[in-house]
Amino acid sequence: MELLQTLNTKQHDELRQGEAFSPDTELDTPFKKHFYIESYGCAMNFADSEVVAAILQSNGFGATKILEEADLVLVNTCSIREKAETTVRKRLTEFRKLKKSNPAMLVGVLGCMAERLKEKFLQEEKLVDLVVGPDAYRTLPGLIQEAATGQKAVNVLLSREETYADIAPVRLNSNGVNAFVSIMRGCNNMCSFCVVPFTRGRERSRDADSIIEECTDLFNKGYKEVTLLGQNVDSYYWIIPTPPQGEKLESINSQKELSEMGGSKAPLLKGFGKAVTFAMLLEKVALINPLLRVRFSTSHPKDITDEVIFTIAKYDNICNYIHLPVQSGSSRVLQMMNRTYTREWYIARVNRIREIIPNCGLSTDMITGFCTETEEDHQQSLSLMEYCKYDLAYMYFYSERPGTLAARRFKDDVPEEVKKRRLQEMIDLYRGHSLASMQKDVGKTFNVLIEGASKKNTEQLYGRTDQNKVVVFARGTHKKGDYVHIKVTSCTAGTLLGAVE
Ligand code: SAM
Ligand code: SF4
Repeated sequence: MELLQTLNTKQHDELRQGEAFSPDTELDTPFKKHFYIESYGCAMNFADSEVVAAILQSNGFGATKILEEADLVLVNTCSIREKAETTVRKRLTEFRKLKKSNPAMLVGVLGCMAERLKEKFLQEEKLVDLVVGPDAYRTLPGLIQEAATGQKAVNVLLSREETYADIAPVRLNSNGVNAFVSIMRGCNNMCSFCVVPFTRGRERSRDADSIIEECTDLFNKGYKEVTLLGQNVDSYYWIIPTPPQGEKLESINSQKELSEMGGSKAPLLKGFGKAVTFAMLLEKVALINPLLRVRFSTSHPKDITDEVIFTIAKYDNICNYIHLPVQSGSSRVLQMMNRTYTREWYIARVNRIREIIPNCGLSTDMITGFCTETEEDHQQSLSLMEYCKYDLAYMYFYSERPGTLAARRFKDDVPEEVKKRRLQEMIDLYRGHSLASMQKDVGKTFNVLIEGASKKNTEQLYGRTDQNKVVVFARGTHKKGDYVHIKVTSCTAGTLLGAVE
């Protein structure tokens, strides 16, 4: 098993892989042409599909969940591990039959695989008409026109600026309660095992105002939780731009702010040219409304600051939950991975989190069998997990990705059966920790945000605690989107069971 999916608590969970688009607005669609989109990989990809949906809708394409009805079939792909790519290739084979019966149907590949393979994709997969990288979605309408004339269309240009800040995403398969909000794109970290810096380009942060606007709009539409997304949210950094000459100051700062600043010239000194850090952004989003829960992913151990941890502690609506991928417990391996921190640094960060937020949920990502990893290194990964006792862990065996630093510099020298055996040992250890983490919640009461009806029993509802654990309880008079106090009475390995207090 490559990935252990223990709980359905991670936003980009395995259950959502290949999920098809089904917007709320599907009924009575005024569109003559239809697109169908499937998404694979991380939460960023699912968020990107919502941007793509918005671009297509404003260019005359309505969404459909029915593959056979589509004029345009899109697959938003992931390259992170070989298995992710194999899954997409298999799916494309299934589209082949469909294309035979409907030759006018266009097939497009979006996302990381498109970026990694570029034109090569067209040679390898003859049925593909469009190949579009993650920074080129604005050009989709033109590319679709080109492909409709029978030409193959490709745009895989990466950008240093594109954040799609001005595009209001069309929410996909939304429960109307939680939404992803992308706050940055790309990554500059160059972890040696990782393909992301090559497929998603340089790191860039999105305009803070546009983020606040999107979150406010979501709250006004009834959403109760936003998850701020980035590959490394702690390095979010936005400089408030100086207003264009002659722009009215009143349009930028409210009258109340103007008087507080002591006069009409004051706003020029305020904000413009100043930086918004991740801690500041978190605070701004939290202040939209105390009933809007704020989550974020992913934090990087080298960048998460005390300021961020204090901000989480300060606001009740910023969830006490941090996803802090460590990847390995051996400083030697971490150095080869170019993670730029040591085991000791990581432990010190975890200690600090627990000191400032004692009840903080903690999760991680781990890789077994990275180049040169010895049994001793592996034992260090296990002992780190023993120390951290993660509530949730995503564990993978190393999959060499072409073009990465590790593929160029190191030999993938740990045999597959050893990688998998170590992964299994890690999973076994982790299972004990996660069960203990669930058991320690029995008898406690949590504020739970209700996300919907339980799949197994519609008389039951489910929601999440602040620490991101799923709780199931009897429906009563409650409904999706409500906050409710639940006393936990028992648990399974993945779910808390409780009753309304
Ligand atoms: N930006 C996040 C970070 O730095 O933690 C994670 C991004 S990546 C999409 C998610 C996880 O995939 C990583 O944390 C890592 O554990 C795993 N991963 C990335 N490249 C991998 C590879 N070549 N083989 C196995 N797992 C990999
Ligand atoms: Fe990949 Fe490292 Fe960037 Fe995460 S921080 S996306 S693992 S390069």
